Amino acid sequence: MSSIETVKCLIIGSGPAGYTAAIYASRANLQPVLYTGMEMGGQLTQTTDVENFPGYPDGIQGPEMMEHFRAQAERMGTDIRFGIATKVDFSGTLHKVWIDDSIEIHAHSVIIATGASAKWLGLPSEKRLNGHGVSACAVCDGFFYRGKNVAIVGAGDTACEEALYLANLCPEVHMIVRRDEMRASKVMQDRVLNTANIKIYWNSETEEVIGADSVEGIKIKNNQTGEVTTIAVDGFFVAIGHTPNSGVFKPYINMDEQGYIQTQAGSAKTNVKGVFACGDVQDSIYRQAVTAAGSGCMAAIDAERYLGVLLHS
Ligand code: NDP
Repeated sequence: MSSIETVKCLIIGSGPAGYTAAIYASRANLQPVLYTGMEMGGQLTQTTDVENFPGYPDGIQGPEMMEHFRAQAERMGTDIRFGIATKVDFSGTLHKVWIDDSIEIHAHSVIIATGASAKWLGLPSEKRLNGHGVSACAVCDGFFYRGKNVAIVGAGDTACEEALYLANLCPEVHMIVRRDEMRASKVMQDRVLNTANIKIYWNSETEEVIGADSVEGIKIKNNQTGEVTTIAVDGFFVAIGHTPNSGVFKPYINMDEQGYIQTQAGSAKTNVKGVFACGDVQDSIYRQAVTAAGSGCMAAIDAERYLGVLLHS
């Protein structure tokens, strides 16, 4: 029988929120154990230039920045492990978390920093060709489409950023926008609109991704005129937002209808004592690396204060 490990502070997730919580929790002598989740380093590992994180006057690559976060947490003494939280039981004072359905950890405090994941359109053809020309990350996979034509769906900052990235690699970028305007910030929209090889299809929705074993094209429908157009492309990128990675906590933790964890105003406290949340899993508004890091700091300080009372009373 495997032994059960008891820890003061368990951190779940390895984006800016999780690693910042780890740095603070380590320095406060909470001896945190951090499980990274599937995507070590979180969403920023799928980004190129980060120009808005203070302290990097020349900007930095996302994966390199996350390597700095990890190294700092490790140097402070965080026990960083690879694994995914697959089940929890937050019904008692000691919180139980199962990693990879096998390892059982008992934690006096838990910091949830599991972030958010890309959304998909939900088309059968999109699912079938995922990894064979369909991708949710232009920065990760764009390279494979160098010199080829691609399409991207979405109209937020991510879609604009990825369309611009692809426009540097591909002769034609076809951007599918479901309304007659974009949600993205003005500066990003202007950049897209002023890029000659990005063609925008307004009021258009993707009906099908065409191709047997790899993407050969897409079929889009204009939702005003009903006109259906087929565009020949080799790659199809989906950039329509994210879903918080909170499903495993649902039986115990209060969330909004989209699954974002609700924290008490001005704190990282959830509805369960000793369980705290930080980063994108509890933030549907700002979703920035710097706000995630800030909330990670809050979660560690809240955990430290909670443990101070719990373990010394
Ligand atoms: P958003 O939620 O901002 O945008 C999602 C986009 O996808 C919207 O245009 C939406 O259309 C569209 N969409 C959603 N569902 C569908 C669908 N089924 N079919 C077609 N289109 C669909 O997500 P982002 O990932 O772009 O951005 C998330 C947050 O991160 C934002 O706050 C953004 O500002 C920020 N961000 C900032 C960056 C920066 O500052 N450099 C870079 C990237 C992101 P509709 O508008 O019609 O709802």
